Amino acid sequence: MTETLLTTVETDIHNVIVVGSGPAGYTAAIYLARAGLNPLVLTSAVEAGGALVNTTEVENFPGFTTGIMGPDLMENMRAQAERFGARLIYDDAARLDLASDIKVVAAGDGTEYRARAVVLAMGSAYRKLGVPGEGRLTGHGVSWCATCDGFFFRNQNVVVVGGGDSALEEAMFLTRFADTVTMVHRRDTLRGSKIMQERALANPKITMQWNSEIVEAHGDDILTSLSIRNTTTGAVSTLDATGLFIAIGHDPRSELVVDHLNTDSDRYVVVQHPTTHTSLEGVFACGDLVDHRYRQAITAAGTGCSAALDAEHFLAASGHASYAKHQLDPVHG
Ligand code: NAP
Repeated sequence: MTETLLTTVETDIHNVIVVGSGPAGYTAAIYLARAGLNPLVLTSAVEAGGALVNTTEVENFPGFTTGIMGPDLMENMRAQAERFGARLIYDDAARLDLASDIKVVAAGDGTEYRARAVVLAMGSAYRKLGVPGEGRLTGHGVSWCATCDGFFFRNQNVVVVGGGDSALEEAMFLTRFADTVTMVHRRDTLRGSKIMQERALANPKITMQWNSEIVEAHGDDILTSLSIRNTTTGAVSTLDATGLFIAIGHDPRSELVVDHLNTDSDRYVVVQHPTTHTSLEGVFACGDLVDHRYRQAITAAGTGCSAALDAEHFLAASGHASYAKHQLDPVHG
């Protein structure tokens, strides 16, 4: 029997729909709501709040002198957006029709929402190694989130792959539980920030395995070991480990728009800098979906703000919203 998803079409035409709920999406929603545009926000079905929901302490988001936990920061942003009238839909966007004046955003439950403008803030997704055993052992020793899964690796020997801030952060977090943490990195210098490098290298539980890449994950039902190739000599060795945490960066979540909007060779959405205009009128993009250089919570929030102001301008210019001049006055917040 074939299961058919019923389509519900909302008859209202909204001013603007925000797709995504990381720092970019929520900041856009706060600005749009505060401008009286009653934005609709599709937050995602499983992970409202974006990638920061899976992090621990955020020490560098301005305004929090002693840091703030990632989930708390996102919860604050959500509450702030709702306070000004943003309507949150806890579902994924399943299809986007963006070419016409009236844009259609179809949610995972089949409901079609329509709006005159759309702000795209879908963020990015964890990158995979693409080696044998990785997919099969995901959830059985292979993980992308130490905060979520670290607890299960108490007194075990685990590996973190990657040399950026994410890998360093994951490795340090895992030392709370694991006996040993081996960082496997394909070069002999780290990419992560100096302060994070210093903290990780000073941690007695962390060992560096330089110039190394994982070529296979082994284990029947759970991970037991890894095959690791030395990138200088080509020699392959075996490392016993029951946990593998992959922290090798992210790819943009542009799959719904890559055939409809201009994207670059890495599939990031191209915007007309310094604005957030995409190649389609009335469609704006922000956050990690467009940014492979900075990718910080604060830069995502900044471009989310820009996208909201661009959308507001667009709606005002097309006669659908009163232009609040003060929004672009640098004297005002
Ligand atoms: P990233 O900086 O792009 O680092 C990715 C790392 O993975 C690099 O070391 C890279 O190696 C390695 N890598 C990439 N593809 C690989 C592959 N196929 N196999 C093996 N290794 C691979 O990504 P990130 O660490 O996720 O950080 C992203 C951004 O978020 C950065 O701007 C970072 O500063 C920021 N961030 C900040 C914090 C914090 O401040 N608390 C925490 C996390 C992230 P190469 O070095 O050889 O390219």
